[in-house]
Amino acid sequence: MNSIYDYTLDELKGKLKPSFRAKQVYNWIYKKYVTSYDDMKNIPKDLIQDLKENYPIDILEIVKKEKSSDGSIKYLFKLRDGHTVESVLLLMKKKVINDDGTIEQSEKFTVCISTQVGCKVGCTFCLTAKGGFVRNLTVGEIVNQIVQIKRDNNIPENKTLNIVFMGMGEPLDNYDNFVHSVKVFSEEDGLAINRRRQTVSTSGLSTKIEKLANEELGIQLAISLHAVDDDLRSELIPMNKAYNIKSIIDAVRKFPIDTRKKVMFEYLVIKDKNDDIESAKKLLKLLDGIKAKVNLIYFNPYPGTSYQRPQRDDMVKFQEYLTSRGLLCTIRESKGLDISAACGQLKEKETNASS
Ligand code: SAH
Ligand code: SF4
Repeated sequence: MNSIYDYTLDELKGKLKPSFRAKQVYNWIYKKYVTSYDDMKNIPKDLIQDLKENYPIDILEIVKKEKSSDGSIKYLFKLRDGHTVESVLLLMKKKVINDDGTIEQSEKFTVCISTQVGCKVGCTFCLTAKGGFVRNLTVGEIVNQIVQIKRDNNIPENKTLNIVFMGMGEPLDNYDNFVHSVKVFSEEDGLAINRRRQTVSTSGLSTKIEKLANEELGIQLAISLHAVDDDLRSELIPMNKAYNIKSIIDAVRKFPIDTRKKVMFEYLVIKDKNDDIESAKKLLKLLDGIKAKVNLIYFNPYPGTSYQRPQRDDMVKFQEYLTSRGLLCTIRESKGLDISAACGQLKEKETNASS
């Protein structure tokens, strides 16, 4: 199903006659967040008719919303074919107002979006993997997540926000639509989200990482590493058998990194699996010479899993081992923990409730 969100501005110019209308439509859609073509006051009636018939506006429907005490909001969206995906609005910094009414700091948002219904990679710790792979999201379905979340929260058009492709699915397995949506997001006449503010998280499809490097898109890269030896990594991420750790590290070394940025290595910490100092030592060695930062993530248990959440003490020791040796390492604050944190879990709840 086509939608108005499928196209870059140039593509839309090629479709609408006269082409200058494309910019006007773009403005209505991405800056005013209109939900109906009838609200586009400067567009002539016959073009409105064409747009209505051929380029639907909202192709997703918000079916569930959960707000966490830290201000983050998790969305469950229904697609036109009835499948559902999740996105999360993360409040990274709260607004601080001084006593004299001036704003000390404005709020900062990051939105985590999905790229597929289900996932083929099949990670053993991930709920999204449990339902298998259903289908890729279209460009419009990826882009519409951001528009609806901005609209639903009255986030002004000129307010910058960050995007992380870290929701359900493996973005590099939906390569073309993912790359296309990065281009739509960064259109100046649209959402104008700078590519440096967009981060793709991948489980490590090394050939696609190399392809992405050649694309010179200018986005940030995050690698879901999770393990430092291939045996454990293949247990956690079965696809590691095809794309092993060495192939991923080699691909990362070739990736163009913004001079002010680093490649993020996500390391999901599971109790008694990969939370020991031996692993930290190997990680340090593995990342030597790469402009890297490490983000430790607490495994978030769910019913039916045999993996366990790590001890806070072990997380801190792991972190200190790395930082004291010069490798930047943070522990991911479990934002929205009280709203079923990791992606895939809201969907799971919904399925259980309705079954
Ligand atoms: N498929 C890509 C995109 C993000 S997957 C990738 O794997 O990088 C969704 C994110 O949720 C990943 O960062 C993954 O590590 C995390 N995740 C999945 N299951 C989790 C769980 N049970 N607890 C904590 N994080 C989890
Ligand atoms: Fe797919 Fe990422 Fe989940 Fe692995 S962690 S199954 S790659 S969504």
